Amino acid sequence: MSDAPRQITLQEWDDQYGRWQAQGFRQPVYGGPLGRHVADGDTRLRKLRFDNSPAALRLWNFLLTEEDRLRAARDSGKKLVGTMKDLGTVPVMAYSLDNLVAFYPDGAWWIPCVMELNSGLLQIADSLGIDESFCPVRAMLGAFVTGAHFPIPDLLTCSVGATCDDFSAIAQRLNGLGHPILWWEIPHRRAPETAEKVVELPGGFAAPAYLVRFVRSELERIRLALEELSGRVIDEGTLSRGITKANHVRALLARLRHLAFTATPCPMPALEMLIAEMLAIHFCSDQGETIAVLQELLDEVNRRVAAGVGYLSARAARIFWVNPVADLQVMNLLEDWGGRICGTEYLFAHALDPIPVKVPPLEALARMALADPMVGSAADRAARIVADIRRFGAEAVIVSRIPGASHCALEGEIIGEIVRGECGLPVLEIEVPPLTDAVYPSLRTRLEALVETVVNRRSR
Ligand code: SF4
Repeated sequence: MSDAPRQITLQEWDDQYGRWQAQGFRQPVYGGPLGRHVADGDTRLRKLRFDNSPAALRLWNFLLTEEDRLRAARDSGKKLVGTMKDLGTVPVMAYSLDNLVAFYPDGAWWIPCVMELNSGLLQIADSLGIDESFCPVRAMLGAFVTGAHFPIPDLLTCSVGATCDDFSAIAQRLNGLGHPILWWEIPHRRAPETAEKVVELPGGFAAPAYLVRFVRSELERIRLALEELSGRVIDEGTLSRGITKANHVRALLARLRHLAFTATPCPMPALEMLIAEMLAIHFCSDQGETIAVLQELLDEVNRRVAAGVGYLSARAARIFWVNPVADLQVMNLLEDWGGRICGTEYLFAHALDPIPVKVPPLEALARMALADPMVGSAADRAARIVADIRRFGAEAVIVSRIPGASHCALEGEIIGEIVRGECGLPVLEIEVPPLTDAVYPSLRTRLEALVETVVNRRSR
């Protein structure tokens, strides 16, 4: 069914879907034309352009049917765990049992974009005193109040300590609304002092051994809570199997990212790659299907690389992108305006690194949790970005600020200074609101100017 790679509109997808169906196209149970999601309110889809492969169709349908999957899981007797803020740790534990399903209520972050501000969630957050001085994750509060976007979980966990002010405040407000939360602490990752025992973390960071021990004891509390919820024992063997499955997802993503960021022409557009990366944090509520979706995407990418087909010319400016975009359309726009993604740091790099397997599983998960780019300093984060810029050969960096996000006030400046000093690359900081339509002209000018700068620098 694969045609030459081409980005197509929602209407073109539905036309193509109709033709494929007439030819006996097979797809998973959640499959169907993409256009049907607009009827559920996902109107932003009409402004996006999508990769035209069956693998991309499966990816999008998988993403856009998560709510149905959660409700079906509950109906089948599974327990739902809402894992807030840690972006990749507790889900690995929950998915080590087959009667638990973990998801991120924080994923409501994207609802204002996908539903083009028509969901009413931000207004509910406003009415609860969480106004636009907070980041778009405040939409999560509205989703809890309406119960319209995900079922209320049987257990809610939330990491606290070295987390952003936005989330701490919003989660406390949620708690105050009558949703009990099992808090677990993730301390600030500081550099080890000379006499301290040091533990190496995934992603190249290091931490004092006692911090790792502390996080391990916190995760032990989570383990007990998951045992109680599931009625099953989570022993080392169970957790190790859970880690093996999570590492399978991470290995597929590592291969996908490498090819998408380094092959010319680019075998998969930035928008589909962003969605694929997001699957790592909680497997979109079905770990087995995540593996199947990513494998199909990787097969498509391998085919394209072997055939030398894809998107964008060798002239495209190679951009490293920092922070997820509140408006998904910006990923399309970057490519329209002459850029391509060659490296990303979307706030969850620790969910992409392989989890260590040569240490006891809770120790491994504690190390991973402490490798979260957001629990250390902005300078640490920048060091990792610099390493990845060199790995993927990026020529410029875009730091996309998240409106209202407390960490965005200064981190862009720090990251920019370090990247310029270490790599001598141009760095652009832009703010991306959930809908960029009103700032389209200025966004375009700034992104095109960056692309032009990159191209001019090549001839120096
Ligand atoms: S402020 Fe940043 S880290 Fe915190 S919830 Fe918002 S996007 Fe996530």
